[in-house]
Amino acid sequence: MQTIAVLGAGTMGNGIAQVFAQHGFQVHLIDVSNDALGSAIATIEKNLNRMVDKGVLESPVIEKTLANIKTFTALPEAVKDAYLVVEAATENVELKLSLFKELDAAAPPDAILASNTSSISISRIAAVTKRPEQVIGMHFMNPVPIMKLVEVIRGYSTSDEVAGAIVSLSKKLGKTPTLVNDYPGFVANRILIPMINEAIETLYHGVAGVAEIDTVMKLGMAHPMGPLQLADFIGLDVCLSILNVLYEGFKQPKYAPCPLLVNMVRAGKFGVKSGEGFYDYSESRKAEKVSSQFS
Ligand code: NAD
Repeated sequence: MQTIAVLGAGTMGNGIAQVFAQHGFQVHLIDVSNDALGSAIATIEKNLNRMVDKGVLESPVIEKTLANIKTFTALPEAVKDAYLVVEAATENVELKLSLFKELDAAAPPDAILASNTSSISISRIAAVTKRPEQVIGMHFMNPVPIMKLVEVIRGYSTSDEVAGAIVSLSKKLGKTPTLVNDYPGFVANRILIPMINEAIETLYHGVAGVAEIDTVMKLGMAHPMGPLQLADFIGLDVCLSILNVLYEGFKQPKYAPCPLLVNMVRAGKFGVKSGEGFYDYSESRKAEKVSSQFS
């Protein structure tokens, strides 16, 4: 089986590594932080054990999956034999541009370089490499082992052959790939994030409280989670940075981030990962509504 390198071992990177390893690929998981690599392996083991407990997996799969993953802090060593690199490092344009230059120099000439970016232009990332036709977006959804969708984003120069290879590889992982073109927010976040922003505007204008807004969308629209709770799970900082990409990309006021979202991010209220967002996760991690002027 081919070697797949996964660059970045955070929330998304560990899920992507798990799914490839579960399907028999040799995975090279890379991060600048040894702590992140250690937590990634612990998270993968915990997820696999949970799947065995639920009867979704047989227990020998755990050992086989973990044996398929090797961890690295040195990028060149990890990608030198890779068929595909999936970059899932921090959402920062300058970081991604510099990583793709490095990947272009270190990965085999025929390797495909994919990014799991939520919003950064694939064409822009591809342009810093000498192989723009082999650069593509492979946008997994969180949590990766559970969510079926892979949004496959064709950059301006991505070849048909590379798009076809990523579509068929995604199917081998048991996922449903959907091909889209490279415009701000692609499809998923162009639709989802403005809806979340509108929910925050609704709260900001005092039309209803947090619980009421989420209840309307859950029970009225059959959404499994209300938009404010979902924003907490995605990370309010991430939601804000995607809105900024949409606003800058389209220059339309409808994408302007709600001032309440901007203030919450400035105050470090990022949602689940910081312990508080629209709900309080600090003690029981059970979503309790934050008692505020908006509740
Ligand atoms: P995260 O912060 O959980 O993890 C990012 C990891 O990248 C960290 O472990 C960090 O140490 C590592 N990193 C930073 N610089 C690095 C470098 N130079 N080399 C190697 N590793 C480096 O972030 P995340 O939520 O996993 O997001 C990763 C990517 O996936 C982003 O592009 C994000 O937009 C995208 N994404 C996130 C979600 C989500 O729900 N979190 C969903 C879809 C896509």
